[in-house]
Amino acid sequence: MKAKCIFCGAPADLLCDSHLGWERMRGQMEKEAPNLVGIRHECVPMRYRLVHTCDAPLCRACAVSGGTVHAHLRSGTSIHESIDYCPGHGFGTMRRELTGLEAEAIRAEWRARARRQRETSVMAEGQPDMFGGEA
Ligand SMILES: [Zn+2]
Ligand SMILES: [Zn+2]
Repeated sequence: MKAKCIFCGAPADLLCDSHLGWERMRGQMEKEAPNLVGIRHECVPMRYRLVHTCDAPLCRACAVSGGTVHAHLRSGTSIHESIDYCPGHGFGTMRRELTGLEAEAIRAEWRARARRQRETSVMAEGQPDMFGGEA
């Protein structure tokens, strides 16, 4: 099943690339540099940082373009990878070290918020009388 855009429910072609933070690659460090495993977070080399991104599915209409990454391949060709964000998300931060579980909790919270917003706007536009009896 194709992922659905968290903002409008349309089929999603894109994923949000916003950085939530990073997690040290404990397994790899253990193997290659056991002395670094417990190092202070600002000293962890980039190659041992697993970046956690928002990863929310987005359709092209909802996504905010963050530009394009140009990568040159050894074959001489180059690829253009688009960077896309949720509305309200930007580059994010690489300063924060978090666990995979924390990253997952942030994603879940962000998606739940997008879903609530969507439901609220659908009600506001489509069913104006729904709360007519309340208040
Ligand atoms: Zn959408
Ligand atoms: Zn996002």
